[in-house]
Amino acid sequence: MPRPIEARIDLAALRHNYLVAKRHAGAARAWAVVKANAYGHGLLRAAAALGEVADGFALLDLDEAIILREAGIRQPILLLEGFFAAADLEICATYGLSVVIHRLEQLQMLRHAALKVPLPIYLKLDSGMHRLGFSCEQIPAARRELTALATAVAPAPVTLMTHFAEADAVGGECCINWQLERFARMLADWPEATSLPISVANSAAILRYPQTAYAWVRPGIMLYGGSPFADQEAASLDLKPVMTLRSRILAVQEIGVGERVGYGGTFVAQRPTRVGVVACGYADGYPRHAPSGTPILVAGEQTQTLGRVSMDMLACDLTDLPGTGVGSPVVLWGQGLPADAVAAAAQTISYELFCALARRVPVVEI
Ligand SMILES: *Cc1c(COP(=O)(O)O)cnc(C)c1O
Repeated sequence: MPRPIEARIDLAALRHNYLVAKRHAGAARAWAVVKANAYGHGLLRAAAALGEVADGFALLDLDEAIILREAGIRQPILLLEGFFAAADLEICATYGLSVVIHRLEQLQMLRHAALKVPLPIYLKLDSGMHRLGFSCEQIPAARRELTALATAVAPAPVTLMTHFAEADAVGGECCINWQLERFARMLADWPEATSLPISVANSAAILRYPQTAYAWVRPGIMLYGGSPFADQEAASLDLKPVMTLRSRILAVQEIGVGERVGYGGTFVAQRPTRVGVVACGYADGYPRHAPSGTPILVAGEQTQTLGRVSMDMLACDLTDLPGTGVGSPVVLWGQGLPADAVAAAAQTISYELFCALARRVPVVEI
């Protein structure tokens, strides 16, 4: 019998969450963001679940884009960091990929590649996050390159994009407006830009600022049932958990007052304590930095972790759950225990929990 740990992936929940994004986005089309192996849920699994509903798929790796095409995905596929070398361009053309362009050299590579059909371009402007994209000063050069490209090949379909740094923040619209204003200012000297489609919204913006749902939106975390907000639960946003990480109790220890649990003895029993040992550790993707007190479900009841997370095991408090014992089912996160709650206790975000799911954890689709 294998170790009792498994990740259940609820494909209907994934579809449901995509449709929630679409509902918020009105007439906009929605890239299903499936980077990082669909946030740890499995690229092909996510594509199979969304293949009939998604308007397009956005990811990072050329190899992943090819996998989707070879699996029969016909919708547009967007490379969120574009291509990395000129040699990638023929492949992008062969597989019909759309590319983010965030620096001038990429436009020059496109011109030199002289593809028969120009690739659809997402021109990324840096409106203040200072990660990827053209600055205001670089826009004239980008326009010249676009014109040169149109002359050398043919006009490429161009969408303008930018990315919000704090659409999830509690400060309200000002958290996005400063970037939208910069975005508009960057385009002020480019009259033709007003007719170009725009894509700016991530999950947080889609949910809180539907006015940012221009031609295309880019939902990621919400597809997987995570809330992008620290102050709002996923369920209240009508999002359903997709990944449920489950395991079982594999041993029980009864310890007295003053006894300590786990490496470093960081948990000290203040009362006679029944300790449940769960078959799940950081090598399964559970965050090692989750402290004592992180929520966990045992036999459907919420309790808390005790002591440090080990590589293959963690401990939890069964003292107040007398009906539980070896073999009792455990939910680390997912159905019945939002990943966001576990992430908050571990001072991270559900994105990181999902992405960290280890390969050794068997996945079951439901
Ligand atoms: C990852 C990513 C998204 C999705 O963000 P979420 O917060 O997960 O919705 C959108 N756009 C870009 C450019 C991204 O890299």
